[in-house]
Amino acid sequence: MLSVENLRSAYGRIEVLHGVTLRVDPGEIVTLIGANGAGKTTLMHAISGVQPITAGTIRFEAQPIERWSAHARVGAGISQVPEGRQVFDSLSVKDNLRLGAWSRRGGDVGPALARVCRLFPMLEAIWEAPAGTLSGGQQQMLAIGRALMAEPRLLLLDEPSMGLAPKLVDHVLAVIRSLKDEGLTILLVEQNAGAALAIADRAYVLETGKVGLNGNAADIQNDPRIREAYLGI
Ligand code: ATP
Repeated sequence: MLSVENLRSAYGRIEVLHGVTLRVDPGEIVTLIGANGAGKTTLMHAISGVQPITAGTIRFEAQPIERWSAHARVGAGISQVPEGRQVFDSLSVKDNLRLGAWSRRGGDVGPALARVCRLFPMLEAIWEAPAGTLSGGQQQMLAIGRALMAEPRLLLLDEPSMGLAPKLVDHVLAVIRSLKDEGLTILLVEQNAGAALAIADRAYVLETGKVGLNGNAADIQNDPRIREAYLGI
């Protein structure tokens, strides 16, 4: 579904992705783990089109998309849930969700709204509340819901458990699993490597802008280097 080859990206003259290659197959959860500053968010932004690249290719369903604008990539079926949620604070929950369906304007967004309400019933109770007044957990549900409003086939999830209470982390992980069960393909960046590996099919370990290890999530989870460096075992 997604194929990234030899991707390079820089901030000014400082290159932070040094030729990253990865793929995500239909229906998979693939997780990208790595230390702070390894380049995970930069890679997610490069795939969604908000971070320029200096070399390499990005193919989505066999089409080269690396020159496409971010909104064209959303229209093609890629949605991103950004790190830190980035909801529109002054807009209501409902309007945040409706903005997520911008690429489908003119179409019927009713089924997508109904799906978000089914996944996150708590959002309906605060439908008219400004998003800035929501708790971190509610904002995370809203950010995921907003991304789903575009009816993506590939969801890019950047640190969805960040700053959440353990019970909410479990809920978010359960939602990610259920989205996979509904057929969505997911690329997941997580600081919480143990939780991410537990729900993922495959994993890539990013080390200062390069892929170090990659493989089945279970194998990566049992790799002594990963257990020591990322799982604290
Ligand atoms: P974290 O887990 O802390 O979010 P990350 O793996 O997502 O880290 P990135 O945020 O992609 O890493 O950062 C990769 C490198 O690029 C880091 O050295 C970071 O300092 C640098 N960087 C990130 N954003 C910018 C920016 N806007 N301008 C300059 N350098 C940046």
